[in-house]
Amino acid sequence: MLAVLNEVQQEVTPLLGQGTVAQYIPELAKVDPNQFAMAVTLTNGESFGVGSFEKPFSIQSISKVFSYTLALRYYQDDLFKRVWREPSGDPFNSLVQLEYEDGIPRNPFINAGAIVVCDSLISHFADPKKALHDIMIFIRECCDDHSIAVNHTVAESEMQCGFRNLALANLMKGFGNIDNDIDQVLQTYFQQCSADMNVSQLSRSMLYLANDGVDPISGKTFISEAQAKRINSIMLTCGHYDASGDFAFRVGLPGKSGVGGGIVAIVPGEMSIAVYSPALNNNGNSLVGTKALELFTSKTGISIF
Ligand code: GLU
Repeated sequence: MLAVLNEVQQEVTPLLGQGTVAQYIPELAKVDPNQFAMAVTLTNGESFGVGSFEKPFSIQSISKVFSYTLALRYYQDDLFKRVWREPSGDPFNSLVQLEYEDGIPRNPFINAGAIVVCDSLISHFADPKKALHDIMIFIRECCDDHSIAVNHTVAESEMQCGFRNLALANLMKGFGNIDNDIDQVLQTYFQQCSADMNVSQLSRSMLYLANDGVDPISGKTFISEAQAKRINSIMLTCGHYDASGDFAFRVGLPGKSGVGGGIVAIVPGEMSIAVYSPALNNNGNSLVGTKALELFTSKTGISIF
């Protein structure tokens, strides 16, 4: 496994320098674009890493997988009344569809959907602090590492410049699909997005999705088998915004990206893979990260197809 990861790293290194780090979040715009890390954790607990695999970065939208897992756990199918599970075909922060679809986001992995999920968690706890606490506790539990924390500088940077997210939340509130105070919902959403993790922690944390909802190492059940299947399906069809089809075509695995430059991908029954390289392509997904995953599945023949 380490040999394959080394080969992948060697082949993507010449691509570093292509793409652009996220510009709309000032703290992320400062990140060195020429970084690369990749880690694999097998369901038996063995793990492998190359590059800067111990260096934390902003997980951004990858956090939406954790918050959605919790919301599905608390609300089950009722959640689908507020957020669908269809690809949007639109950019991650688009307002257009929401207007003509009555404020119901297409899926939980575009910003609008994740903001509704966050709102649902605040309602569940009747307290934004408890909702954030629950998300963070869950992330720590998933990777069995209690050091995972919110990067408040990044969260504040998003709060200062999150104009489109503010617009999305207001539009949905106008349609009656946000129950709580907009500022509180967005604060919570920006903080969950601003958790810092490295690729080793990320690949470890997603093992429950590779193992029918049960963490294979601790034996803890995080979600039912049916719900794990659904999350993987939504990751496959919606995990990369308007490039989800392209990611499925090139990589052939359920995955979720974040504008911090991270991507996680799940190989059901076998492993979870995380990759980091902060320069993004035009769809807001890690350019080198996507290529690395494509090479990994091509070289190993591992995919769900
Ligand atoms: N916090 C980011 C935003 O709301 C998440 C987007 C992403 O990672 O794709 O814009």
